Amino acid sequence: MGILGGGQLGRFFTIAAQNMGYSVVVFDPDNQSPAGKIANKHICRPYDDLEALDELKETCNVVTTEFENIPAETLRYLEKDIIVRPESKAVSIVQNRIKEKSFLKKSGIPVGRYAVIDNFEAIKFFNDEVDIFPAILKTAQFGYDGKGQIHVDNALELENAFVSFNNTPCILEEKLDLDLEFSIVIARSVNGNYLEYPLVENQHESGILDLSIIPARVTSIQKKEATKFAKKIARDLNYIGVMAVEYFISNNQLYVNEIAPRPHNSGHFSIDACVYNQFDQQVLTLAGNEPKNEETKFPISVMLNLLGDIWFRNGEEQLEPKFEMIEGPKISLHLYGKSEPRIGRKMGHITILGSENQSIEDVIRKTESIRKTIWEN
Ligand code: ADP
Ligand code: MG
Repeated sequence: MGILGGGQLGRFFTIAAQNMGYSVVVFDPDNQSPAGKIANKHICRPYDDLEALDELKETCNVVTTEFENIPAETLRYLEKDIIVRPESKAVSIVQNRIKEKSFLKKSGIPVGRYAVIDNFEAIKFFNDEVDIFPAILKTAQFGYDGKGQIHVDNALELENAFVSFNNTPCILEEKLDLDLEFSIVIARSVNGNYLEYPLVENQHESGILDLSIIPARVTSIQKKEATKFAKKIARDLNYIGVMAVEYFISNNQLYVNEIAPRPHNSGHFSIDACVYNQFDQQVLTLAGNEPKNEETKFPISVMLNLLGDIWFRNGEEQLEPKFEMIEGPKISLHLYGKSEPRIGRKMGHITILGSENQSIEDVIRKTESIRKTIWEN
């Protein structure tokens, strides 16, 4: 099996595939790539290197991706000769916010109010009377973890933001008053069968996922709607593999925020809480098998992301966190093998599993005390 992209998602995929007996080729231009380090083979070349892609074709029967910013052109080139899941067509829609939003609208999925700004002329339409501010300008492509986004309160700020993005195509989204954010990870097989994980409630800090709470504290109607939308999205994209959908609830209204054509950070609880995790499903569906019924061994869990910030908790100084301080029952630490901690860089995560007599709030409190221990040591 081949995977394009060798970050932590690729690394968990590699582990899952190898556990099932597959050999894995990781294709990633970074020679320090976390997945490349454990792969059976690491092709360390740029994504548009045709000779290297030919080598991938010769070594693999099937190829998948770990993130949406792989050029769709690369997938198209591979899919001429080998199986690529998800297909370039689906990825090319999801990796571009303009295409993604118009796809969602066409599928009848509720999205927040937005405008396409793909040239400087389009800016002229926006004066302070236009009812979209406060808003967020997002580049159509290549954003992640809140990058490629600028909050704008008026027409002048919008113009400056667009110029600072070098007039690259963008969407302008109305800034919603968020009651809650949540996501769902689903898998869809080549035969069109679905598997869905429980909804995950997500809390972000500066545009980066901080905490995930399982199950999300939403109403049963919201859960039903969200699950229905996710399946419709997968079907309409002709999607094979694992996919995540992010949602907003604002003024009790449900909106789809965005789609991720891959396993998702918010699905990491499944590694410890379920018999088959989201990466197992990625391997299974990639091989053309049916996803395996997830059995949630631990119905309540909380995941805390560990960012590079922790390494700099004493100002500029780089300190190795004393993670051994937080070891204990039902606490599971995962580090991604990244050699260089940076502010805002995802270095690992911790999953805290709930016991039978604990409420969600109990597990959140336990998580916050673990966070405090890490920062204070
Ligand atoms: P990324 O690709 O970085 O995940 P998102 O579009 O999901 O980009 O934005 C990251 C986070 O920023 C969201 O999870 C949410 O917390 C906040 N955000 C994004 N768009 C909006 C919006 N229109 N209104 C309110 N908050 C938003
Ligand atoms: Mg997002």
